[in-house]
Amino acid sequence: MVSRADCSILIAGAGPVGLALALELARRGIKPRIVAETDGPVAENESRALGVNARTLMLLGPSGAASDISAQALPIEGLKLSSLGAPLLTVNTAGFRGPGPALSILPQGATERLLLERLRALEVEPEWHTRVNRIDGTPDAPEVTLVRNDDSGETVRPTMLVGADGAHSTVRKACGFAFPGDALDNEFFLADYAYDAPVDVRHARVEFFNPGVLACIPVRANVLRYISTMGDFEDRIVHPRPNAELTWRSKFTVSFRHVETMSVGRVFLAGDAAHIHSPIGARGMNLGIEDACWLAWLISEGREAEYSKLRLPAVRGVLRQTRMLTAMATMDRPASLALRDRILPLMAHLRFAERALVRSIAGMDTPNPPWLSVAS
Ligand SMILES: Cc1cc2nc3c(=O)[nH]c(=O)nc-3n(C[C@H](O)[C@H](O)[C@H](O)COP(=O)(O)OP(=O)(O)OC[C@H]3O[C@@H](n4cnc5c(N)ncnc54)[C@H](O)[C@@H]3O)c2cc1C
Repeated sequence: MVSRADCSILIAGAGPVGLALALELARRGIKPRIVAETDGPVAENESRALGVNARTLMLLGPSGAASDISAQALPIEGLKLSSLGAPLLTVNTAGFRGPGPALSILPQGATERLLLERLRALEVEPEWHTRVNRIDGTPDAPEVTLVRNDDSGETVRPTMLVGADGAHSTVRKACGFAFPGDALDNEFFLADYAYDAPVDVRHARVEFFNPGVLACIPVRANVLRYISTMGDFEDRIVHPRPNAELTWRSKFTVSFRHVETMSVGRVFLAGDAAHIHSPIGARGMNLGIEDACWLAWLISEGREAEYSKLRLPAVRGVLRQTRMLTAMATMDRPASLALRDRILPLMAHLRFAERALVRSIAGMDTPNPPWLSVAS
């Protein structure tokens, strides 16, 4: 076994997952090298992820990052679903008892900056403008060519290489990991609007248009995000205040894919490099941070060979769940829409179903981290 404090770990990618991994290693005395091709964290007003779940707060508790996040995040009290203006179901998350609110909102750019501050306090600084360009050698002895923006470069031979380099992962492709799955035909549209005063940010709202869906998610006290499957969704938004300023507009497609193994030899994958799915359910970043925390713990214990076996069931479970929620949100056959609009209101009477939904919104449906003593 490689001595833990002396082993050289190279992390490709300084998104939320790479940063969380570096932080969890560094707080245990294992200082990794972390490189990213960008010049720093993602711009806060172009943040993809907003929802930080209770599982992430639990996992980031020991590093102190959870309290930083909680100090800035907006706790969500629930989710309101309606169909053509008629209320269908309110899922109340305010009663959730756990390591924090079931779901809080903080733009990904802010989360990345808070992780980065904690990492810097442990004297680890990501090397920005530095790209993993190619990987030679073998999975047991990877040789990684790094290229900087000024065209300088070097070849490094880390004891372990972790690809936390996102959905288009160079590490995954260069090391030959298969990434099977499928893509949805639908395009999704997104627009963030800032208002001239605080608005109601207690709930996330989903309105079904049968067919078509428009979700409204709080971003900041005076900023709301609208996500839709309908190209003309901005005409359908009912702004809570007359002065609305568009701060970001984007569109994206959704794929459901995950690797068949999360490690080969001494090469590991975490986050979007290993699994991608729909943002419905707010699980992607949270699941990736969970990968990072498990991998750091296993490395510190000399048990990294168990990583793939321990993580894949959680990954499969979250993909199954997000696929189901996405199918429910994007269905378009009249018979299915009518059935959905009849079944959802019944859930209000099924306490166990609501509890299970809140537990999954909180991310507490994955295995408890054994290094933290928690009630299951
Ligand atoms: C609209 C939308 C909303 C979402 N909302 C949520 C949400 O509410 N909650 C949630 O949990 N998830 C959400 N997600 C998913 C979330 O954004 C991703 O799961 C998360 O960003 C993955 O983090 P990551 O660190 O794995 O990858 P990324 O954030 O993509 O970071 C990858 C990093 O790798 C670097 N990189 C890439 N290639 C290289 C290379 N060759 N060499 C060096 N560096 C490299 C990049 O510069 C970057 O630093 C959402 C996604 C979308 C599209």
